[in-house]
Amino acid sequence: MSLFVQKFGGTSVATIPLIENVAKRVINAREQGHDVVVVVSAMGHETDRLVELAEEVDYQGLDGRREMDVLLSTGEQVTISLLAMMLMKHGVRARSFTGRQAGIVTDVEYTRARVLDIDSTRLKAELEQGVVPVVAGFQGTDEQGNITTLGRGGSDTTAVALAAVLKADECQIYTDVEGVFTTDPRVVEEARCLKRITFEEMLELASLGSKVLHSRAVEFASKYQVPLRVLSSFSDASGTLITNEDESMEQPIISGITFTRDEAKLTMLGVKDVPGIASAILGPISDANIEVDMIVQNVAADMSTDFTFTVRREDYTQAMGILENIAKSIDAREVTGDNKIAKLSMVGVGMRSHAGVASKMFRVLADESINIQMISTSEIKISVVIAEKYLELAARALHSAFDLVEEDK
Ligand code: ASP
Ligand code: MG
Repeated sequence: MSLFVQKFGGTSVATIPLIENVAKRVINAREQGHDVVVVVSAMGHETDRLVELAEEVDYQGLDGRREMDVLLSTGEQVTISLLAMMLMKHGVRARSFTGRQAGIVTDVEYTRARVLDIDSTRLKAELEQGVVPVVAGFQGTDEQGNITTLGRGGSDTTAVALAAVLKADECQIYTDVEGVFTTDPRVVEEARCLKRITFEEMLELASLGSKVLHSRAVEFASKYQVPLRVLSSFSDASGTLITNEDESMEQPIISGITFTRDEAKLTMLGVKDVPGIASAILGPISDANIEVDMIVQNVAADMSTDFTFTVRREDYTQAMGILENIAKSIDAREVTGDNKIAKLSMVGVGMRSHAGVASKMFRVLADESINIQMISTSEIKISVVIAEKYLELAARALHSAFDLVEEDK
């Protein structure tokens, strides 16, 4: 008998008819002979609503964060009870479990706790009795019994952690999209849902801004070797399976193209090529809590060089102000910037074994007369910064040049 952990996100449980749809999916899996543990998120935008209430009170500090978690954990508690009732109405034995009742122990980092341990005795006993456990996502308790939450989107992590300790055959993340796409279908019409992708690629995509899965959930699944599947609550398609690289399979060179528009770049021109300059420039930026993404420094001709980095567009004005001050103190020539840029990345484990991916990418962009402003690479990723107005053109051209349109095996 196989065991599935099925997680349903907020949009999948937003109303009672939708909760009934979820119950039917669970029943369907059971009828096909699988045991099921269900994990649910809060209904619809409930967590956002709770966050707004707390913002209205505006109480800060560690105690505030403790109460925040008591507040946020209520959203999931509503869903577990309603889904358990719905399952029982359809003749299935079901029981709801809060994080604590499910044995989920976390550290004490309120609002972004990490799972330390899960005592699965209770859930296993329920499964043996033929009961469907319905577990609240996103929450646990610390060793003192204080309620904690795992950070926004954390129900995915609950599901993967439970799948790991219960040694489930698959952890299925049901959401409102069909799976992981080759690229954003709103931009590239031919974008296609991938049948499979590796953990490594999914982690890159998540860190590049793909919101389909909580990145900690992917890390966890990779560490504990839990096969993960992303699929839609609203269709019968089989979604995207995320697993280890399968050596025997022919890997596509590129699995996905992803991009972010909310980027800006800043350049300090004419800085001295001496030790300590990068730290003098980026230290105050990080002190201001501004996240830096790409960094490029050129080789120095005539003892001076240029230093460029990117930040989120919303941080651009503040970063610019800081940089202008630093420029005076380190005697740099000039500060320039551009906040109409975008970052586009291609991700694929096949890059490891194929030379020439970067040069082909650059040629495709050149053929479209798109200027590349910055480049950065890792083992399975190439990112470029280009003018935002060319982003869609670049994504379409690369999607077709790298044959992402073709069905994978
Ligand atoms: N309800 C929480 C959130 O909205 C957790 C989750 O849905 O994964 O972030
Ligand atoms: Mg989510």
